[in-house]
Amino acid sequence: MDDSYEYKPFYDGLVEHGLIVPTSVLGTFGRGAVFEQVVLRFNDLVNRLAADDGAEVYFFPPVIDRKIMEKVHYLETFPHLCGSVHSFYGDNKEAHNLAECANEGGQWGDMLKQTQVVLSPAACYPVYPTLAGTVPAEGRLVTVLNWVFRHEPSEEPTRLQSFRMREFIRVGTPEQVVPWRDMWLQRGLDLLHSLKLPASSDVASDPFFGRGGKMRALSQKDQKLKFEVLVPVISEVDHTAVCSFNYHQDHFASAFGIYTQDGEIAHTACMGFGMERIAMALFKTHGFDIKQWPETVRELLCLN
Ligand code: ATP
Ligand code: ZN
Repeated sequence: MDDSYEYKPFYDGLVEHGLIVPTSVLGTFGRGAVFEQVVLRFNDLVNRLAADDGAEVYFFPPVIDRKIMEKVHYLETFPHLCGSVHSFYGDNKEAHNLAECANEGGQWGDMLKQTQVVLSPAACYPVYPTLAGTVPAEGRLVTVLNWVFRHEPSEEPTRLQSFRMREFIRVGTPEQVVPWRDMWLQRGLDLLHSLKLPASSDVASDPFFGRGGKMRALSQKDQKLKFEVLVPVISEVDHTAVCSFNYHQDHFASAFGIYTQDGEIAHTACMGFGMERIAMALFKTHGFDIKQWPETVRELLCLN
């Protein structure tokens, strides 16, 4: 096997070229100016590609109402990935004990209580509650670029705990939503091919928790609810998913009361680019020095 795909030399190369800055926690590295430029220019390219789609554009903070997580039963399926925000609610004496505990390196988390917010696990989550009610006959299309959190610390540079997703969210009838998802799958592939990335698509499943999770994943694959576009980044064999295309059926719409004009529960789909993974796929394929990237790629990303 070709060991030029091992993650450690790739990670070290990103660091040596000032593209990322190591931190003390796995999956939380800092981004250098050039890395960030590539992320933002790719986002601009997506804007140009989808300019005529007429998506509504929103920006949400990286925290969401924890009720959203509860309503979509996130803890049933992904308890191992969740990030919950806790804070201090005590009096002076308890504050003193808290600080002392922290100073001594103790378990000060035990002295905090849950707040109303959790870290958003997907960029589309804050969108669904805002769609409650009856959508217009043509449905709705929303796009967001948000930071998300997933508790999956890993040495692989492509598996982060905190990263950005550029997502499009479509709501309407199944006849509107499914062809839209399939259109984006082809469009996503074409986009990555235009950037000279060796991208391919495949049916996929989410990393559901536990024994029941295996069944869920099989059924998700069986029904072709999730597709991914993959690029070899840290393995020649297990390619990295750089974007996903999900058909949720009525899962989110029934949780938040989203209806079509004929009074039926709406269906939703979302597609999302993992922005840091897109940048890393570009650096892996075209090299650490953006000046050496193919001219057409530099042009598309306005890097000249
Ligand atoms: P849903 O909305 O149904 O929960 P989603 O499409 O929003 O799913 P995923 O499919 O899990 O969420 O992730 C979207 C994209 O985010 C992936 O294709 C991938 O590029 C990127 N991604 C996922 N996990 C990580 C991670 N740990 N580190 C970096 N990028 C990630
Ligand atoms: Zn999504």
